[in-house]
Amino acid sequence: MSMQRILEEIRDEVRPLLHQGTIASYIPELASVPPERFGMAVHTVDGKVFAVGDAGLRFSIQSISKLFTLTLAMQLDGDDLWARVGREPSGNAFNSLVQLEYENGKPRNPFINAGALVVTDVILSHLDNAIETLRDIVRALSGEPTIDFDLAVARSEQATGHRNKAMAYFLKSFQNLDNDPEKVLDAYFHHCSLAMSCHELCQASLFLANYGVAPVSGDFIMTTNQVKYINSLMLTSGTYDAVGDFAYRVGLPSKSGVGGGIVAVMPGQFSVCVWSPGLDASGNSLVGTKALEIFTTKTGISIF
Ligand code: GLU
Repeated sequence: MSMQRILEEIRDEVRPLLHQGTIASYIPELASVPPERFGMAVHTVDGKVFAVGDAGLRFSIQSISKLFTLTLAMQLDGDDLWARVGREPSGNAFNSLVQLEYENGKPRNPFINAGALVVTDVILSHLDNAIETLRDIVRALSGEPTIDFDLAVARSEQATGHRNKAMAYFLKSFQNLDNDPEKVLDAYFHHCSLAMSCHELCQASLFLANYGVAPVSGDFIMTTNQVKYINSLMLTSGTYDAVGDFAYRVGLPSKSGVGGGIVAVMPGQFSVCVWSPGLDASGNSLVGTKALEIFTTKTGISIF
C-alpha cells in the first residue's frame, strides 16, 4: 500500500476519536483551538512528501521546541550541558517540582520543563539574540521564513505560568541557572510559542532522520553521534510520563507538545508529524499517539 493511502486510512480510522481528548487550557490562549483539527505529514530524506488533513495549518508547537533548543545547546555547549542536566526518564509529571528538590536542582532530562529551562539558560549565556537565533534556525531548517512566535500564546503563558516561574527560581537557588530567572522564563515562553505546521515540523526535524544533514542547505548541522544522542533522548524522555507505553505502541523516537503536536523520526528514512489538539491524561495528543501507532503498524516501519 502506498504511503499516501496509509495516511488516508489513518485519517479515516481516527476520525471517531477526535473529540475524546482534552485541549490544554492551563495556557488560556491554547484553549480556543477547534478539537476536530487533525493533520499528518511524512517527509522522506530523499525529498518525498505525503500528507492528509490540516498538515499545512500552524499550531503551537510548545514542548516540541525543546528539540531545537537542545540541538542549539549541544552545538554551543557540547558535553558540558550534561553536568547540569541528566539523561534519564523522570517518572514524574513534566512540570513536577518534587524530584528537583530530591536531586539537588539537576533536572532528570532536557525535555521536562526544569531541564528545558536549563537548556534555555545555556543558550542565553552563549548568544546575545538567543531567541531570534533559535527562530532563524527553525526557519532555515524548514525553508519557511514566515515562521514566528505567537506572541498572544507567549503572553498568555507569561501571565499564568506560575509553576514554571517557581521552577526557574528553584533552579536558581541551586545555582543551576546563570541568567536572571525572568530572562530565562521569557525566552522559554517565547520558544514554546513558536507556531508551525506539520509540514514545517517535518522539514525542521528531518536532520534527525538524516544523520545530521539539514534538508534545505544540505549542511551537516550536527554530528551523526549527536543525532544519536537526541534521538535516544526522544525515545526515553520525549513523550512525558507515558514514554514507556508510547515507545511500546509507536516504536519511534518522538517529541510531543501540549499544543497536540508530535514529531517522530525514522533514522535513514523520514520524519513524521501529527497534530490533533485533544490530549490524553499524560499530556500527549490522544489521536496523535493513536495515529502514529497505526502508522508504524500498517507500514511495518519502526526502529525495532
Ligand atoms: N510551555 C509549556 C509549559 O511549560 C510547554 C509544555 C509542553 O508542551 O510540554 O507548560
